[in-house]
Amino acid sequence: MEILIPAEAIAARLDELAEEITRCYRDTPVTVVGILNGSLMFVADLIRRIRLPLRVGFLTASSYRGSATRPGKLEIRDESLPDLTARHVLLLDDILDTGKTLTRVVAHLLDRGAESVKVGVLLRKLGRQEVPFEPDFVAFTIPNRFVVGYGLDHDDEYRHLPYIAALDEATEKGGYVA
Ligand code: 5GP
Repeated sequence: MEILIPAEAIAARLDELAEEITRCYRDTPVTVVGILNGSLMFVADLIRRIRLPLRVGFLTASSYRGSATRPGKLEIRDESLPDLTARHVLLLDDILDTGKTLTRVVAHLLDRGAESVKVGVLLRKLGRQEVPFEPDFVAFTIPNRFVVGYGLDHDDEYRHLPYIAALDEATEKGGYVA
């Protein structure tokens, strides 16, 4: 496993990102919506740095692989979200990969009556996007490698790591490599 972004670098970048978000919304109340499970640490650490009137809630978005003729299905569960009618939503996710998840979740939140939806991602993977999608806030851009830690998992493991690391092939096959 190779550490790509150490914990201290994440903390320093979140200070900047929170400042950018605070300035962008000025004093407008914002409803932060995190996509579970991957965004858990990103949301928890970022909202403590944002100086705005703020509500927070979470949804889950699970994707199922599609076939050649049918696109993959995305199941969104949002029962625990606060009412979004006329609210300014800041949607936070762990990683922008193909862009499919965020495109659909943004449409869903607008359907639920959100006044505006801006998107912040912890990571944006280079060269992977399949649908045009521009996030409003990006903490880090990373190369096209499979990453874990700081909320991101592989087979539900590694989410607790305080840093972001790339898994190498040996690890992905099940072994631990220091
Ligand atoms: P998209 O719809 O943009 O292709 O998918 C984004 C989702 O794919 C992320 O929220 C995350 O769950 C998963 N994902 C994409 N790349 C990675 C990665 O490198 N590591 C992990 N752990 N998950 C990833």
